[in-house]
Order: sequence, then structure tokens, then C-alpha cells
Amino acid sequence: MNDSTAHSTALVTGANKGIGREIARQLAAAGLTVLVGSRDPGRGRQAVEEIGGRARLLELDVTDPGSVAAAASQVEHLDVLVNNAGIMVDGRTPPEADTASFRRTYETNLFGVLEVTNAFLPALRRSAAPRIVNISSGTGSLTWSADPGHQFAVANGSGAAYRSSKAALNALTLFYAQSLAGDGFKVNALAPGLRRTDLNERAAAAEGDPAEAAAGAVRLALLPDDGPTGGFFSWDGTVAAW
Ligand code: NDP
Repeated sequence: MNDSTAHSTALVTGANKGIGREIARQLAAAGLTVLVGSRDPGRGRQAVEEIGGRARLLELDVTDPGSVAAAASQVEHLDVLVNNAGIMVDGRTPPEADTASFRRTYETNLFGVLEVTNAFLPALRRSAAPRIVNISSGTGSLTWSADPGHQFAVANGSGAAYRSSKAALNALTLFYAQSLAGDGFKVNALAPGLRRTDLNERAAAAEGDPAEAAAGAVRLALLPDDGPTGGFFSWDGTVAAW
């Protein structure tokens, strides 16, 4: 993968701001052609300008199957898919948290990933070294969620809909990794750490810079052929607990 980086193409979903825009910027700086996924073409175009390099807009709403199909029909060949688009809309836990907030969260964070990944699989299969990176969360770790002393303990917020959507995304990562292992795919999930973005108001006082998290995603996006698959990694490359 690494010696052909300059000829590779990557798609980053939800790349008009936050961690996704930074992942797109770093991949473009590494010489890849980057498709900047955005559901809003105006903000997407602005991000393309900021990202520079060989970036171009791909209009894509991950919750809209028509939008996903239309986007996939424009892409013949893809080397890297970064499923980054995500939402956190409800900080509650059951019994207060209701099915509506779970459904809404899952539409983006889980079903969106399934829809996008399946739609772009034909293009990824044309790559000599296909890579899929799912942007998960430390709050999706059941091990850490259950540990009262851990930074990502349930008591520290984020809500059950968001946490369980990321736990399910981790499971999905494992399923894709195993079913695509024979075809040269590397499929991994990333816990990017708490970052200052619109999604995470709590992050202002936490680790901070989205660029650090993006570097972790880029590492997984450019894994060599002997790299891991079916893993869950923290932004700094250490193994995260499922
Ligand atoms: P932001 O809110 O800054 O960015 C989220 C991006 O996802 C935006 O571009 C947004 O687009 C896009 N998006 C949301 N819904 C859709 C959709 N239906 N279709 C297409 N794009 C969509 O958040 P972050 O950068 O913080 O989050 C990026 C990822 O990182 C998420 O998966 C999040 O769960 C994960 N994460 C973030 C952490 C943090 O501390 N920030 C910690 C752990 C994980 P739009 O501008 O149109 O809304």
C-alpha cells in the first residue's frame, strides 16, 4: 500500500468538519486522492478548498440509501474507506432513553456504516490493498464502560444510544474483517479519544486536538499487507479493549 499511496483513492464520510476533515487533510497531504464525503455540498466544497491537494467533493448522506447509491455509482475504484460520519444526540441511559433516540443514533452510526460499506465494496474490491477504518469510540468499549475507574465509564456520560451504537460498530468491524480477510482487506476500528469538535462538548477539557486522532486513523488507512485486521485500536496505536 505505502509505495502506491500517491495513486490511491480514499473516501472519508462526514469530512466537512471535525475529525473527518482532519483525516481527509492528512490523507491528501500523504498524496492520496481524497473524496470528501459531505451531506451538504456547500460546506463540503468549503472543506475541499481547506483540505487542498487532490481532494474533491462526494455528496453523501449516510442515512439516505438513495444518496449512498448515487455516490457509489460515481466511484469505480477505491482503496480506503473511512467510516467517520457520526452523531451523539442523547446523553440519557435507560429507562429514560427512548427508542426514538436509539433509532436515530443507529441510523447514522451503525446502519449508515453498513449501507456505505456494502455500497462501496465493489469499488474496494478493485484495490490491491483495500482498507476500511471505522471511527468508533472508547465509549463503545464494554470493558471500559463497565469499569467505574475508567475515563470511559458509563457514569461519565455520552448516553446509551451512542455507546451501544459504537459497541455494535465494533462488532460489525469484526464481521467485515473476517468475511473479507481472504480478499486482502484490513478492517479495523479506531477509538479517537476525546476531541474538541461540535459533537463532543465535554472534550474541551480533554485530550483535545483532532489532528492527533486523525493520525491514528491514517495509520490504519495505510496499513501494510502484514498489518492487523479485525482490531480495535486507540488513536495512539495501542490496542483498545472491546
Ligand atoms: P463532528 O460533529 O465535528 O463531525 C461529524 C461529521 O459527521 C460531520 O461532518 C457531519 O456532517 C457528519 N455527519 C453526521 N451525520 C451524517 C450523515 N447522515 N451523513 C453524512 N455525514 C454525516 O464530530 P467529530 O468529528 O467529533 O466526530 C467524527 C467521528 O468521531 C464520529 O463517528 C464520532 O462518533 C467519533 N468520535 C468523536 C469523539 C470526539 O471526542 N469528538 C470521540 C469518540 C468518537 P454535518 O456537518 O452535515 O452535520
